Amino acid sequence: MVSRVIPVEPFDLVIIGGTGDLARRKILPALFRRYLAGQMGKGSQVIGAARTEMDTEAYRQMVSEAIAEFGGAEAKNKTGLKKFLALISYITLDAKGDTGWEALHDAVQTDHVRAFYFSVGPSLFGDLAKRLQKHGMADDQCRIVVEKPFGRDLASARELNKVLARYFDESQIYRIDHYLGKETVQNLMAVRFGNMLFEPLWNSQYVDHIQITVAESVGVGGRGEYYDRSGAMRDMMQNHLMQLFCLIAMEPPAKFDPDSVRDEKLKVIRALDPLRPENIVRGQYEATETRPSYRKQVENRDSTTESFVALKANISNWRWAGTPFYLRTGKRLRERASEIAVVFKDAPHSIFGEDAGRHRNILTIKLQPNEGIELGVTIKEPGPGGMRLIDVPLDMTFAEALGPDQADFPDAYERLIMDVIRGNQTLFMRGDEVEAAWAWTDPIIAEFKEGEPPLPYATGSSGPDEALALIHRDGRAWREIKA
Ligand code: NAP
Repeated sequence: MVSRVIPVEPFDLVIIGGTGDLARRKILPALFRRYLAGQMGKGSQVIGAARTEMDTEAYRQMVSEAIAEFGGAEAKNKTGLKKFLALISYITLDAKGDTGWEALHDAVQTDHVRAFYFSVGPSLFGDLAKRLQKHGMADDQCRIVVEKPFGRDLASARELNKVLARYFDESQIYRIDHYLGKETVQNLMAVRFGNMLFEPLWNSQYVDHIQITVAESVGVGGRGEYYDRSGAMRDMMQNHLMQLFCLIAMEPPAKFDPDSVRDEKLKVIRALDPLRPENIVRGQYEATETRPSYRKQVENRDSTTESFVALKANISNWRWAGTPFYLRTGKRLRERASEIAVVFKDAPHSIFGEDAGRHRNILTIKLQPNEGIELGVTIKEPGPGGMRLIDVPLDMTFAEALGPDQADFPDAYERLIMDVIRGNQTLFMRGDEVEAAWAWTDPIIAEFKEGEPPLPYATGSSGPDEALALIHRDGRAWREIKA
């Protein structure tokens, strides 16, 4: 099978913060791959912008180095790289001053879709929006892409929404959550709403519980200062895990269009019960012989910020009343592994007797390191000697099922950037969704200040023992964290 490339009109993409980590690691390599796939039409251009003074040649050199480091196998395509670099230029620009704005105005092409990727800290979003308007670039053909974190609580997210709304219509604002750009996340919707098989069972009558795990094996690394002000709840739970949670729990939208999907996601957040303190566990990783503790890494010996959080959430609606959702995320855990597991209830009666044991169907949506979907089914163990049952996976790992061409799907940033150019907001968060997610998490975060400090956990473990107890006390168990 050969992958299909859907053409897009020529476009201008301006990366403000074009010299930063995100631009180098993700945005530029993603654009390069789309270029090689034939999706950057003739006349498209990429403009890097930041305060650092350099000329286009020096910037192209920087882009070339970034692609060599982060571009994967495609980076070896020297001819492709040379042609791609010819589409790139650089402008020295200050979000807070007048430097560079006239030059940017002259460089962008008025007959193109123009996307301005705000790859800078959120404190600059307002300045950038204001200057884009002042310099005549905030017209209908203009889209802005904003990165997380979108606020650090409800008040700041509201303020940010208000500032952006002064200059842009909601249909021009693309709040990015790269988890939504993953192939499997969209496949989750295809599996749910494209098959007759699952949707009739997708409710509290048949589903015992749902688990969402986003586990990282690394610590906070060089992001210590930022992370210590944020923690796992703000950095991961409020956005990435909540988004996955909404997609798994939402009602079928009437249409697969941006507002229908986002309306349904919003209803899920609004139906969430407030979280009770006994349903949340926070942790902080300890040192090993070779690796420093969380507190050492963030250089704050009294830090009470969590590097791990696990919680049990309940949705009060007809579909999900009585089905708990267990969510956990953390750093320095056993492995880097993210998945959603839908655990179905036991069959009402076992005709095979006690010896057959307890068997359950589990639908697992794997997000990383490998993307795929697996359905655990119960079958008879082959061979003579009676009716013994075993669970086997029906594995839909894409690389195996689709062959190498089709499984080489774009990474999340490639897909999301192309969606911005196409003007498709389905996989981006709407302002009211972000605010609703903060409205749910704000009281939880406020409790952290009053309550106990996070519990210590060993590097390479599954988090604090209390997180295991959170689910054990309901007679259930977390799935093993494994890649
Ligand atoms: P970074 O490495 O610190 O880069 C910041 C960029 O902004 C640099 O290019 C910097 O260049 C530019 N900049 C700073 N002040 C500016 C100003 N006044 N005018 C114009 N440009 C200015 O940060 P980053 O890691 O790339 O992150 C960028 C944004 O993405 C942040 O909001 C971050 O939270 C978010 N994000 C990052 C990642 C990631 O993996 N890195 C992941 C998710 C979200 P100059 O100093 O030359 O101006």
